[in-house]
Amino acid sequence: MRPDATTDEIQSVLDRLHAANLEGHLSSGEERTVIGAVGRVVDPEIRTAIGTMTGVDSVVPISRPYKLTGREFKPRDTVIEVGGVRIGDGNFVVMAGPCSIENEEHMVETARAVRDAGGHILRGGAFKPRTSPYAFRGLGEEGLRHLATARDETGLPVITEVMAVADVDIVARYADILQIGARNMQNYNLLDEVGLVRRPVMLKRGLSGTIEEWLLAAEYIMAKGNHEVILCERGIRTFETTTRNTLDLAAIALVKGLSHLPIISDPSHGTGLWKLVEPMARASLAVGADGLMVEVHPNPDQALSDGAQSLTFANFHGLMEALRPVGETLGRPVAPPPAELTPVAGD
Ligand code: PEP
Ligand code: MN
Repeated sequence: MRPDATTDEIQSVLDRLHAANLEGHLSSGEERTVIGAVGRVVDPEIRTAIGTMTGVDSVVPISRPYKLTGREFKPRDTVIEVGGVRIGDGNFVVMAGPCSIENEEHMVETARAVRDAGGHILRGGAFKPRTSPYAFRGLGEEGLRHLATARDETGLPVITEVMAVADVDIVARYADILQIGARNMQNYNLLDEVGLVRRPVMLKRGLSGTIEEWLLAAEYIMAKGNHEVILCERGIRTFETTTRNTLDLAAIALVKGLSHLPIISDPSHGTGLWKLVEPMARASLAVGADGLMVEVHPNPDQALSDGAQSLTFANFHGLMEALRPVGETLGRPVAPPPAELTPVAGD
């Protein structure tokens, strides 16, 4: 739309698209509004007709298979605000917590350590995708309650995975951000469902997902109306087995150019080795990630899942301190603490 287009003119274009069985997605920037017209086939005549409507500046076909997730639709970075934390605004945000929520005490203790070290968002899995059906598969709703308690205790917003369409409502009742795990990147029914929820969604890259497939998976969520999507690079499977996965740092740099969506790096699942978490976290910041997701556990040796890649509280504190000078030097500092943070006891 032209920069001076009126609300009525924008509405007329939306109505015209609707009449042509196309969905109009609005992106209102500071200078202008872009309307993304999404549908199976865009009739060239409609394209011409829309081009002549008042207020329309130009009609540009988007050549890439993903539309709403690309920078052609929205050149400016998407910033997602959750519980006083801004993701994607140029500051570096850290999500941390145990792989699995094991019990309330452990969850609250970890939440305090994450907050005290300067972490921004608390993670913890209640519904766990495990390779073996005999492994610990999470506490389910009980785990979600512990996560909510830990949020109340600290003021940190929380993120947790939802694995099934049937669980979306219950997880959305507790979580500030819904996580779609790597194994579900192409679970299209689940993507549709979280697209209908008014909660940000963090979409992890599949174990063998190409960048295009990943952005198309994000497109599913956006196409349903939920534009608050965060991408997460968590390593892909390669021939290398010394590390659990191969953290694809090039994908982070590439996706920053292709898409306006924020992107988080997960060096815990990306390497499987706690010693590699800090170096890969620093590298992630340097290549342009908007933040991190890392696993932290009070006693990694006894963790019910992913102990080998989990940081102790001391190591997490060390990680945060190591990131600060890197962020300052690169002009992308570690973000300030969430606005609604509960003060550290004794302050
Ligand atoms: C997790 O975050 O605990 C998890 C299971 O991650 P992923 O889906 O990347 O394997
Ligand atoms: Mn894990």
